[in-house]
Amino acid sequence: MTSVNRQIRLAQRPVGRPDENTWKITTESIPEPSEGQFAVRVDYASVDPAMRGWINDVRSYVPPVGIGEVMRAHCVGRVHSSNNTDYPVGQIVSGPFGITEYAVSDGTDVQVVDEALAPARTWLGGLGFPGMTAYFGLLDVGRMKPGDTVLVSGAAGAVGSLVGQIAKLHGCRVIGIAGGRDKCGWLTDELGFDVAIDYKFESVGRALHNAAPDGIDVYFDNVGGQILNSALAVLRTGARVVLCGAISGYNATDPQPGPSRYLSLLVNRASMSGFIVTDYLDRFPEGMAAMSEWIRRGLVITREQVETGGVNAFGSTLNMLFDGANTGKLVLQMHEE
Ligand code: NDP
Repeated sequence: MTSVNRQIRLAQRPVGRPDENTWKITTESIPEPSEGQFAVRVDYASVDPAMRGWINDVRSYVPPVGIGEVMRAHCVGRVHSSNNTDYPVGQIVSGPFGITEYAVSDGTDVQVVDEALAPARTWLGGLGFPGMTAYFGLLDVGRMKPGDTVLVSGAAGAVGSLVGQIAKLHGCRVIGIAGGRDKCGWLTDELGFDVAIDYKFESVGRALHNAAPDGIDVYFDNVGGQILNSALAVLRTGARVVLCGAISGYNATDPQPGPSRYLSLLVNRASMSGFIVTDYLDRFPEGMAAMSEWIRRGLVITREQVETGGVNAFGSTLNMLFDGANTGKLVLQMHEE
């Protein structure tokens, strides 16, 4: 067995898209847990658009990752050695272990993974933060009601694919926006979306007018930019816009303009609310119970795209998100086998 532990550290803050100068790989020995701690062999790391924000030196909902620090990431892995009886050797856990092959933890923000509910990597997707983001963002922030017309962008991604399926389960008409014919086909043919708009191929504004001639009740926004503007143009009276993310601008080097059609919120007495999934931590048991039941019954399909290559592949894997090269939840396998 190897005694080497490699990790990704932030080398410098990128301007625009992260590149090979953004990251450095460091090597240490496998950490030994102190009293009350345990060491985890990290199997899968969640690769998230939010990572781009975490490496900016700006005030946000979490402090920025510091230069030289191990890159923050939510992961699943197996307890490798332990001085904590709550986390015995062999236990599968999820937690904020970072982009590292091995990590130590005292159990803070760690969850025990029950593989009877779903495979470990699904705990980074449908049973992880993306699942909770979709569940609470749609039902609580978006106040979705049966019969609503729900529009979601980034629809073939981790959060968006779940948002659309949860809305369908509740009797909504669902329109998804995604990039590419394969993604759109997956949404309509396998996930049950009513309509999928390929924003790389067709005019979103025109397609929305055709797909929702009477307008939309909920827009779950994962991407911002021009797609947000097009969605604002088709709001119904009392519509709710859920501001979940705005990936189209995450690598922008200039300030991004606000949506010129924002007066649609006024005209339609509509609202636009931002949220952070961790606001709902105390209600995660409710979200987990619902998601795991829907997944178990096959009512919600969760898909993880597993990239290999461990720490060597982290930088290129992160950039896949900005290129739309993932379908479902993007995860990085941290060890070769
Ligand atoms: P995804 O799995 O959806 O991956 C990102 C996707 O964004 C890509 O696959 C790509 O799909 C799409 N995309 C990239 N660039 C653009 C662009 N310029 N215009 C339109 N679409 C683009 O990621 P997640 O599901 O993990 O996250 C989705 C969003 O939710 C992100 O904005 C993220 O920051 C946010 N988020 C917010 C949380 C919160 O608490 N508020 C929690 C978790 C996520 P395509 O091929 O369709 O272009």
